[in-house]
Amino acid sequence: MKILVLNCGSSSIKYKLFEMESKKVMAQGGVEKIGLPDSFLLVKLPNGEKVKIEKSMPEHTIGIQLILDTLVDAKIGCIKDLKEINAVGHRVVHGGEKFNKSVLITPEVKKEIEQCIDLAPLHNPANLKGIEAIEKTLPGVPQVAVFDTAFHQTMPDYAFMYALPYELYEKYAIRRYGFHGTSHRYVSARVCEFLGVDPKKQKIVTAHIGNGGSCAAVLNGKSVDTSMGLTPVEGLVMGTRAGDLDLGAATFIMDKEHLNTAEFNNLVNKKSGLLGVSGVSSDARDIDAAIKAGNKRADLARKMFIYRVIKYVGAYAAAMNGIDILVFTAGIGENDPFIRAEVMKGLSFLGVELDEEANNVRGEERIISKKGSKVTVCLIPTDEELMIASDTEALI
Ligand code: ADP
Repeated sequence: MKILVLNCGSSSIKYKLFEMESKKVMAQGGVEKIGLPDSFLLVKLPNGEKVKIEKSMPEHTIGIQLILDTLVDAKIGCIKDLKEINAVGHRVVHGGEKFNKSVLITPEVKKEIEQCIDLAPLHNPANLKGIEAIEKTLPGVPQVAVFDTAFHQTMPDYAFMYALPYELYEKYAIRRYGFHGTSHRYVSARVCEFLGVDPKKQKIVTAHIGNGGSCAAVLNGKSVDTSMGLTPVEGLVMGTRAGDLDLGAATFIMDKEHLNTAEFNNLVNKKSGLLGVSGVSSDARDIDAAIKAGNKRADLARKMFIYRVIKYVGAYAAAMNGIDILVFTAGIGENDPFIRAEVMKGLSFLGVELDEEANNVRGEERIISKKGSKVTVCLIPTDEELMIASDTEALI
C-alpha cells in the first residue's frame, strides 16, 4: 500500500510518500511560497540530492498537481501511475473538541474542520485547501485527517480549563487544547516499545523541543496535560514564541506600545522567545555560536529556555505523582546534547542521572540516563508523517 502524507500550511505544502509494507519513504519534498511569484517545489531525492522546480503557484491545487506530476516523472519520480496511491493522510492542526482521534474525511468532517477555523485561523483553512485540492487531483482516493490536538483530548477538565468565567468556555470553547499531539503520541508509544515496557503502566513526560515546543504528561498511554494551550503560544520558551506570560503584562504592553491584537499576536508569536531575548536568532545553533562568541543575551535566552523545560517536567512529574520516563524529541531535543544535559542536571532531585557519554549523540533512539537512574531518559526521534501514514492505513 502507498500513502501520501500532506502537511499544508498557508503558503507551503510538505509531502512524503510512504510504502507501508516496508514503512519506507519513497519520495519527499515541499512546495514553498504559494501565492508569491517566486514559488517553487523542492524534491529531495533518495540519494540526498535536491531538485528545485520553479513554477508560479497561485494556489494549493496547482502546488499539489506539481507534486503529483513529479511522483510519476520519468526522471525523478518513483511510481508509474497515480492510481498506485491508495490514500492521502493530512495533518490538520485543530480538531477542537470534536475529534479525539484520526478520521476518514467526509463532507461532515470537512464542515467540522471548518467550524474550528476560529481556533486556528492560519492553519485550518490551509489544511482544508489541501483536502479540496486532492479531491480535484485524485478524485475518489480516500483521505484521512490526523489532528495535532486529538491526542490531548484525554486531559481531565481541571487540567484543560482556564480559570476564566465559565461562560467563555460555553460561548467560544476557550480551553487548553495542546498541539504536537501526533508527535507526543508517537514518541510516548515508541519509547515503551524501545524499552520493552507496558505503555499502560508508565508515567512519561515528553519534551518536544524544536522551533516550536511543548511538553506533555502521558499517564498510562493518555495525555493528561500539555504546555501549549488554546493556541501554540503558551508554555515553553520557543524559537520566536514567548511561552508563558503574565496576562497583566499583555495589556500593559498593548497600552504602552499602542498595539492592536494582531500586532500583539505577532509580537508574542514571531518576535519573542530565543529571538526576542537574544536579538540574534530563533535558531538554537546560532544561539550557541553567539554564546561562544561572548554574547550575554544569547546566553540568557538559552538559560531561560532550559529553565522553562525543567519547570514543566517538574510540574508534570507532580501532575502524575511521579515520573518513570522522560523523552526528548524534535530539532533541539534530538540534536542538542548540551541543552538535554542541562535539563537533566536540573532534574536530579527526581532521580535523573545523566550518562554524559550516551548523551553525546544526535538523532538516534537511545537511553541517555545512567543504568539505575530512577527516571529513564531517552532520545526518540519523532516521526509525525509515519504516524499520519499509519493512522491513514488503519482507517482505510
Ligand atoms: P519545527 O518546530 O519548525 O519543526 P524543528 O523540530 O525542526 O522545528 O527544530 C528546529 C530547531 O532545532 C532549531 O532551533 C535548530 O537550531 C535546532 N537544531 C536542528 N539541528 C540541530 C543541531 N544539529 N544542533 C543543535 N540544534 C539543532
